[in-house]
Amino acid sequence: MPLYQHLVRDLRQSFPQPVSDRVHDAYFVFSFLRALDQLDAMKSAMPMLGKPEVLDYAAARACRMADDPQSVEQVTGKLVEHLSGMFIWGHPRSQVNVVPSPTIPSIIGGLLPSIYNPNLVSDESSRKIAVAEIEASSIAAALVGFDPEKSAGVFTFGGTGTTLYGVKIGLEKACPGTMQTGLGTPAYVVCSERAHYAGRTVAGWLGLGFERLVEVPADENNEIRTCLLETMCRDLLKQGKRIAAIIATMGTTDAFGVDDLAAVVEIRDKLVDEFSLDYVPHVHADAVIGWAWSVFNDYDFAANLLGFRKRTLRALAGVHRRMQYLGQADSLGIDFHKTGFAPYVSSLFLARDAADLQKVARAPESMPYLFQSGEYHPGQFTLETTRSGGGPMAALANLLMFGKNGLRALLGHLVSMAEDFREQLEGHAATHVLNGGNFGPVTLFRVYPDGVDTFSFPQREQTDPALRARLREYNDYNRHIFALIQNEALQGRGVVISLTDCYRETSYGEQIVALKSYIMSPFSEEHDVENVLESIWKARARIAAEGAP
Ligand SMILES: *Cc1c(COP(=O)(O)O)cnc(C)c1O
Repeated sequence: MPLYQHLVRDLRQSFPQPVSDRVHDAYFVFSFLRALDQLDAMKSAMPMLGKPEVLDYAAARACRMADDPQSVEQVTGKLVEHLSGMFIWGHPRSQVNVVPSPTIPSIIGGLLPSIYNPNLVSDESSRKIAVAEIEASSIAAALVGFDPEKSAGVFTFGGTGTTLYGVKIGLEKACPGTMQTGLGTPAYVVCSERAHYAGRTVAGWLGLGFERLVEVPADENNEIRTCLLETMCRDLLKQGKRIAAIIATMGTTDAFGVDDLAAVVEIRDKLVDEFSLDYVPHVHADAVIGWAWSVFNDYDFAANLLGFRKRTLRALAGVHRRMQYLGQADSLGIDFHKTGFAPYVSSLFLARDAADLQKVARAPESMPYLFQSGEYHPGQFTLETTRSGGGPMAALANLLMFGKNGLRALLGHLVSMAEDFREQLEGHAATHVLNGGNFGPVTLFRVYPDGVDTFSFPQREQTDPALRARLREYNDYNRHIFALIQNEALQGRGVVISLTDCYRETSYGEQIVALKSYIMSPFSEEHDVENVLESIWKARARIAAEGAP
């Protein structure tokens, strides 16, 4: 037998068998099980797999392809090593960011398509996985208040992708024919200064340019100032400029601010009349984080059958107050891989009117090798060609598993832990909650040394330029606190939180550093909240003892 045939024969063992072979199936499953075992052995009390690792990029750049194949076992062993030092987001002592721990069904939902490779470009190549995409889209559409009969959804490459679809469709409405002839007239994207930078990315990539992103100031609750939105849109229209899209942020990344979408839509409609516009500026809701709160749209807050306590109920109702109008957006983005507890990447773009997607479609003649049969060809309008079935299958898994009450309970639990944390921070003289007006699972706060009057100082340092030096000093103080807490957490004793360099700017243009606790673990309990507080007091004492600020 020539050598190559030996190699092919051996390599066949590394593929799932095309025809049922129970012995080989067992080998496949066992190979995966071994990897899971190795990962399990890397778990400890620390919210991390293995140990903290120094990342050696020089060695990584020196990597080359070997001459000969390696076995499945050798390779998986090496892959597992790459997870050493990785945070366990689902650990109750991990409160870092809006990164969830995926559920078991959603992991399986992501895994199954990776064995059989359905391609969502068309139902020719994805069959019932295409149906899964429609199912997940319809469930989500009904949740947020779209008519599932009229709306359409497509899974894409992240929250940024959802914003890209929204703005691209809006651009085609404001400047029809752009898809065909290119951008003739400049067009603008309007959003809040607290909006995610995805809007900027999209403005750049669509050829509008960063400079055509108009950022409207936000208020103290991190919501777009709607009166200024109106003024700034009116100014653009007065100058004869076109608005490709207004982005309403429904849950900001850092603070969980929620824009007043109903007011945004009302202002848009008023301006269409006032200027007799020949198009309707597209309103896209960046709801990648906030969408999940839609499960409370038909929750009876008065009866409160799930038994949330008062403070939690108030927090949930505070978000519901805004989120109930999500259905008024022309399109929106959902990240199941954030507040939907699915693995990366599972992002859904939903258009209220399915016909909007045709605005960005290519003619079938331009894709002669595709779409020869079947009836569902999202590839005609998607930016991507190949799309994985992992996103929709993972999303569907969780939508099925949770049901409304499951997701309500989970969000309610996270919010209740966050409220617990806030209550404690508010009760202490040395700490101040910065986003007290936002009711999500994230708390931004500052810690001060002894002797600072936290009843008035936190407000004053945000507005009084005479306090610039002290603001900077306390920025450093909070960075120092963060470093100590982080260090302790990595020893397996505390809780991993995070730090944001710029919660926002003071009225005199300085960045305000904040500590951030983002509670996403379903395993969080009161004592984990206590742990964060203990770490804070320990860090404060340590700094005081060192005689630092
Ligand atoms: C995370 C986030 C995005 C970007 O989403 P990805 O899924 O990370 O691409 C956009 N908008 C908001 C508000 C976000 O929090």
